[in-house]
Amino acid sequence: LRNIEAKVNNRIPKNFPTVKFLNYKNRKRILVTGGAGFVGSHLVDRLMLEGHEVIVADNFFTGRKRNVEHWDGHENFELVHHDIVRPLYLEVDEIYHLASPASPPHYMLNPVKTLKTNTIGTINMLGLAKRVGARVLIASTSEVYGDPMEHPQSETYWGHVNPIGPRACYDEGKRVAETLSYSYMRQEGVDVRVARIFNTFGPRMHMNDGRVVSNFILQALQNDSITIYGNGKQTRSFQYVSDLVDGLVALMSSNYTQPINLGNPVEHTIEEFAIIIKNLVGGTSKIIELAAVEDDPQRRRPNISRAKRFLNWEPKVSLTEGLTKTISYFEKELKKTKHSQGD
Ligand code: NAD
Ligand code: UDP
Ligand code: UDP
Repeated sequence: LRNIEAKVNNRIPKNFPTVKFLNYKNRKRILVTGGAGFVGSHLVDRLMLEGHEVIVADNFFTGRKRNVEHWDGHENFELVHHDIVRPLYLEVDEIYHLASPASPPHYMLNPVKTLKTNTIGTINMLGLAKRVGARVLIASTSEVYGDPMEHPQSETYWGHVNPIGPRACYDEGKRVAETLSYSYMRQEGVDVRVARIFNTFGPRMHMNDGRVVSNFILQALQNDSITIYGNGKQTRSFQYVSDLVDGLVALMSSNYTQPINLGNPVEHTIEEFAIIIKNLVGGTSKIIELAAVEDDPQRRRPNISRAKRFLNWEPKVSLTEGLTKTISYFEKELKKTKHSQGD
């Protein structure tokens, strides 16, 4: 008995960040699928700090417990190890449905699973929303526009997607997820929101994420060659993760039900981007060209007038500011890895 007592008394209370107090009328129960991933974990932080009850459902395919471990033990927080392809019975007010690998090497690893996650997984979340009357926000993507023939891309553009190419499992999976959302809205009255998310970066991206921002930063930090796929003339527009979180929360609370682009309209070629990162990091990396990847979209930039008009949202964080924060995150991650390898 004395041992047990000692254990209880020695339990050190965890130092949680300060969470707003919300009374029961304003406090919501919110499910975040994929909440242990890069974007999901930042969204969880925001919702927790605002005082809501948050349930994360994640199968840890690309996500990690440590992205949300700072909430472990908080009374408003729950982490469920769950694969969204299987049904999930909960009582919630809102669902942010983010579960899906997002990086091309990850979603191409098991294309059938990517399709199941985005189709069956989305049906399950729409079924749950229908049963409990919850509002559901689907994390769609700029990939629904494919290799676009319209530039910049506005929400009215129907896209240009190869249905049988290597990216199809993700692009078509997300297109079906959108079709499902609007079918459940029309047929069953489910309250849906659809965010078409453009390239996003920031701390907590996985070291092995494989997307361009993490690849280039890690290569520059280690003086390895910076690998451009193809001639580097293809373009992307990068938004910092806190801007995306602002947009997702604004969309969830708005009455606007059509798809909305969330992205930063500042566009760069991948070659320019390699130079920007090399200059910010310093070091001696060479910039090299590797073979182009199949079906790589050549130009991408969001038209965000809809988000500006209906959500009063636009990105606030500049590329340099966001990259500086992300570089220092990866610096720390590299030190941790070296430390754990005993260097
Ligand atoms: P991520 O890979 O870091 O996070 C995805 C999370 O979903 C991970 O925690 C993963 O373990 C989980 N997951 C995957 N399959 C699952 C399954 N079957 N069941 C339960 N959990 C599962 O990626 P991210 O960048 O955080 O992306 C989050 C969402 O935003 C995704 O839906 C993605 O398609 C979308 N999106 C992201 C970007 C971007 O640039 N980050 C761009 C467009 C769209
Ligand atoms: N579902 C779920 N949680 C719920 C309600 C439904 O996971 O709380 C899943 C269930 O697996 C179902 C799917 O959502 O197959 C779609 O639900 P819907 O009510 O549209 O279809 P039905 O149950 O009639 O097949
Ligand atoms: N890319 C690159 N080198 C890398 C990783 C990606 O040149 O190490 C290119 C890729 O071919 C694409 C762009 O960078 O043109 C963005 O790729 P990412 O995988 O980050 O996201 P996508 O927008 O293609 O989903």
